[in-house]
Amino acid sequence: MKVSSCSFLCFLFFISWNIHAQTIDQRVDSLLALMTLEEKVGQMTQVERSALNSLEDLATYSIGSMLSGGGSAPSPNNFNSWADMYDGFQRKALESRLGIPLIYGIDAVHGHNNVPDAVIFPHNIGMGCTWNPDLIREASQVVAREVAATGIDWTFAPCIAVARDERWGRTYEGFGETAEIQEIMAQAVVEGFQGSDLSDEESIVACAKHFVGDGGTINGIDQGNTVLSEEDLRAIHMPGYIDAIEAGVGTVMASYSSWNGTKLHGHDYLLTEVLKNELGFEGFVISDWKGVDQIDEDYRTAIRRAINAGIDMVMVPDRYEVFMGHLINLVQNGEVSETRINDAVRRILRQKFALNLFDAPLTDRSLMPSAGSLAHREVARQVVRESVVVLDAKNDVLPLQKNDQTIVVAGQLANDLGAQCGGWTISWQGENGNITSGTSLLGAIEKKVESSQVIYRPAGDFDGEADVAVVVIGEKTPYAEGRGDRNSLLLDEEDLNLIKAFKDSGTPVIALAVSGRPLVFGEALPYTDAMIAVWYPGSEGDGVADILFGDHLPTGKLTHSWPQTMRQIPINVGDGQEALYAYKHGLEVFPSHEVSGTLLPYAGTSNFTGDQIILTLSDKVSEINAQGSDFELFINGDQVENAIRDIGLLEFDKSILVLHLNQAIREDDHIRLSLIGGSIMAGELGLPPFSDYFVYNATRSSFIKHILPGRIEAEQFFAMEGIMTEPCTDIGGGENVGYLDPGDYLRYSIEVQNSGPYEITARLAGFQDGQLLLLFNDTLSSSIDYTATGGWQNWDNFSTTLFLEDGSYILEARAQNEGFNINYFDFDLRSTNVDEYAASIHDLKAFPNPLGEELSLKWSSSNSEFIKISLISLDGRLAHPLYEGLSQAGPNSFNLDLNNTLLPGIYFVEFKTKNRRYFTKVVKQ
Ligand code: BGC
Ligand code: BGC
Repeated sequence: MKVSSCSFLCFLFFISWNIHAQTIDQRVDSLLALMTLEEKVGQMTQVERSALNSLEDLATYSIGSMLSGGGSAPSPNNFNSWADMYDGFQRKALESRLGIPLIYGIDAVHGHNNVPDAVIFPHNIGMGCTWNPDLIREASQVVAREVAATGIDWTFAPCIAVARDERWGRTYEGFGETAEIQEIMAQAVVEGFQGSDLSDEESIVACAKHFVGDGGTINGIDQGNTVLSEEDLRAIHMPGYIDAIEAGVGTVMASYSSWNGTKLHGHDYLLTEVLKNELGFEGFVISDWKGVDQIDEDYRTAIRRAINAGIDMVMVPDRYEVFMGHLINLVQNGEVSETRINDAVRRILRQKFALNLFDAPLTDRSLMPSAGSLAHREVARQVVRESVVVLDAKNDVLPLQKNDQTIVVAGQLANDLGAQCGGWTISWQGENGNITSGTSLLGAIEKKVESSQVIYRPAGDFDGEADVAVVVIGEKTPYAEGRGDRNSLLLDEEDLNLIKAFKDSGTPVIALAVSGRPLVFGEALPYTDAMIAVWYPGSEGDGVADILFGDHLPTGKLTHSWPQTMRQIPINVGDGQEALYAYKHGLEVFPSHEVSGTLLPYAGTSNFTGDQIILTLSDKVSEINAQGSDFELFINGDQVENAIRDIGLLEFDKSILVLHLNQAIREDDHIRLSLIGGSIMAGELGLPPFSDYFVYNATRSSFIKHILPGRIEAEQFFAMEGIMTEPCTDIGGGENVGYLDPGDYLRYSIEVQNSGPYEITARLAGFQDGQLLLLFNDTLSSSIDYTATGGWQNWDNFSTTLFLEDGSYILEARAQNEGFNINYFDFDLRSTNVDEYAASIHDLKAFPNPLGEELSLKWSSSNSEFIKISLISLDGRLAHPLYEGLSQAGPNSFNLDLNNTLLPGIYFVEFKTKNRRYFTKVVKQ
């Protein structure tokens, strides 16, 4: 029955499509026959709205398309001004010789998200967790209507990236980690955007992106390299495209990333042979923002390669005259064929005709009232409800009670609409604060209560009595693309402390995680009574409150395997790793002991000194008849004899068992726990014996200590700001650190074993000269000057010499300039004889002498090193500190304002380096 009705429908669809396609194809062909080469190239050009040199250019060059990049909006920024802007551009385009309308594209990736007051939906990661394609189709219809209301024809969505490594900053833009979820959603979203007929006023063209393998890059580096066999590329990253094509997706965007070292923007095989020829994609391929520029240093060559590989329209987005000039010239020179150009233009025109742009080019303003409407918000709220994933819940803390409870809400994220919308909201990166209209999580909770009291304490400073604390944790600042790449997804210490503080005071804790990806909860888990992932819910926080207060039961299920530790990342279903919460996990009820029927271990972690294991159970315990010997502890697979000294309950939460250890766990240890006997009871329920239970190792200082002399691989930092790691082709291979900008830093824990002069060599590559500062325990101690090496992977050595005393330090390498990469640092001990250290200060000059108000100093230093300059009185006492800081190799000079009441007499200016003192005499009259 099902089959025959489907084939009947498909048949009807085929007929109507065929008639439609024929007329469109005929119109395309007739138009194409009239076009000059220049006009064809114009159609292949996409310009950013703010990059247009003059409005007239749209008509002069017959420019085919415009876009708004993330956050690029007319002023004032509202629905009407967008429609006015669109119509203004469109009217001008229609004045071109052949009157071909523009197609205007925008990143409506979770709503019409560049426009204030548009409905903001959850980002795709949350959409995925609904597992409900019908709802997502409806949501996409809503987005299409809001976009169409402002005239815009085209959205650069859906992103159907399969994010395989949660460190990737675009993880939230995809539906999940598998082809399965990509397939379930791709078709529904395309159908939602494009409607049953693209020519409908409410339909817009969709864009499946980023083809292909964008989510598979090594270490989750944005725009990085996806190293996979063709079989795996097809199996993991391609199925969603097949579905999108089946649904008739009008455009596909090429990915910035590479496949096995070749950038997709120049990938003839994948773009043309696979996507167009094999998969039968008939729409057009748009390049990503300056993506063409990345495939060759020479722009003309880059354009040649991209167009020949199968890019049909180029998101230039600014130097469009240069682009068009090159492409015209490439065709005239026979380096790009006319056939290729005709194919590209035919594909573009086909979409424009399908959209009915020729007959109805201007905004249909009758749709305007629907934008941001209550009816639209209701759909988003339903999506939010279904996207929320209840990861864990115990102790009957959920649902929250509308009456008779005191509910403390804590965490700055509770009251931050911008943060709960995430990146790609109003601006490209997104912003904190009240950036649009909607309901914050706090606002939604406040709306729900009747006689219950809601107290908001962003920083958690509360010493009253509360029945429950809702602590909102997660990713504090929104981000987009590579700026969201992270090395660590550990929960902020701030969040951990907030959770612990409530728990310590005996208040049950419900943690809500606002995030674009799974975070590593680690130590925090045992201190929560419920853990809920709300992703980036968008403007309709009410959907979260609907779940919290039990008005709707949770149904959301994970589309990512939730890692136990950072070390598990990348973790994906089927890779054999045991997730903290498995792919498709999500509670559908709030368990209480009546419901769950068994006492279960809920979470286990060590404390940070490693001498305790904290085990939380799914309910409060009334009796313990077990002893330490009833538990078996395994460290790195080996059972530890007599490991547990005693066990006890935490006073403030009797669902938390503390096992005191005889021997501390070390930071790298892998810990498992079994219960073989004894009895732990919660009322009627007992904890059944269990074996091999994973315990999160929260022992601190879990970073490598570098023993020097020796080498520090740049990527082995314990903390950093602003950098990314990437594959390195230099000595040692492995990885190097890149993307450094001024102020970015790397921190290493080091132990200097021998005092002495060290030659510190940095292995660097980059395009600019610059200086790298070295700080030891927060003190600027030296710097390394380097010169351009002419390539990201052209490496050279740059050195400085510095005297180091033995001991432990935090070394910070801080960039002063942009445009360089670091492979490693070598610390060579030049001599163990401290006196042989040749560093010297010479040519010391102090003037005027006798002293005035100001003192000028000049000297030369044989090495860059840390120096302390003081004024010493004749009896050897410190009369005045003058300077502490770096002395550069070579000449140095300083002007010092003495501004003091020095008594007349003879003084010495003392220059003190790590192991020497130098003096020059000055007189005060
Ligand atoms: C992103 C695309 C986006 C484009 C236009 C690029 O930086 O990678 O996903 O569609 O910008 O804003
Ligand atoms: C290179 C990095 C470099 C970065 C600078 C990238 O394309 O791969 O090595 O640090 O550009 O922005």
